[in-house]
Amino acid sequence: MNRLEGRTALVTGASRGIGAAIAHSFVENGAFVYLTDIDDVPGRAAANELGSQARYLHLDVREESEWQAVMTRVAEEQGVLNVLVNNAGITGFEGGHSDHGPEHASLAQWHAVHRTNLDGVFLGCKYAIQTMRSTASQGSIINISSRSGLVGIPGAAAYASSKAAVRNHTKTVALYCAEQGLPIRCNSIHPAAILTPMWEPVLGEGPDREIRMREFVKDCPMRRFGRPDEVAALAVLLASDEATYMNGTELNLDGGILAGAVAAPVASQASDRN
Ligand code: NAP
Repeated sequence: MNRLEGRTALVTGASRGIGAAIAHSFVENGAFVYLTDIDDVPGRAAANELGSQARYLHLDVREESEWQAVMTRVAEEQGVLNVLVNNAGITGFEGGHSDHGPEHASLAQWHAVHRTNLDGVFLGCKYAIQTMRSTASQGSIINISSRSGLVGIPGAAAYASSKAAVRNHTKTVALYCAEQGLPIRCNSIHPAAILTPMWEPVLGEGPDREIRMREFVKDCPMRRFGRPDEVAALAVLLASDEATYMNGTELNLDGGILAGAVAAPVASQASDRN
């Protein structure tokens, strides 16, 4: 459980969901972790729960000046930055459902989603590279993309576009750091259907919740949602010395959704063949 002993990590969007789970697993593995978010009350509570190996800092990933302030503080306090997880992300549906298709999505919606999901990752990579360089740190940057960055999503055009761009920018960062002779790796994780508060606006409450949950995972070969700790396990691997040759890689984490179609034979077809 000490795969990250002596490392300093920063996780964005760490107040809840996947970010909180990653922070938890990093601490469990011996790292010192800065949990950052815009949601300060649960963020501070999550850091307090993790004890002396964790600290909460406010960081809106859209704001360049906030990235500069946070990175300066990390460098001053810890003298290193080994891991950045660019996890903060929005779907655009947080305020309720509206048309996010390519024909009717508003330019304001499009920009808002890209500002958090893409500008935030660009700024995170930029200031992580600078901080890792100036502190001579061994670094691992982990960008949380999505299955939606690999396939088209007619009802969530901006989300899909932003996550696809994250996937590509990850490779650019990996190549740039290698070209510069910096010991910094950069990889992306592509989760799908991980049960976090992000899903609450669509799942809702009441007796139909279970039905909606089953409906959402009917195309998943494993027919269940993934758990945040299952994403965190992959982040620990990418942050650790077990992944020192993994660079510019995309890791899908989707219960097999992208492996192909669900092709369970129906009972009558199976008996015809026997
Ligand atoms: P979540 O439960 O909604 O948590 C996201 C956290 O990020 C929230 O605490 C949110 O704060 C924070 N945040 C939003 N905007 C921010 C900003 N500008 N700066 C800093 N923090 C901000 O989401 P999640 O499901 O854990 O998802 C985490 C990442 O995984 C996202 O990038 C998401 O796109 C990706 N992902 C998730 C799934 C899934 O099925 N859950 C699948 C594929 C990819 P507020 O609560 O105040 O908004």
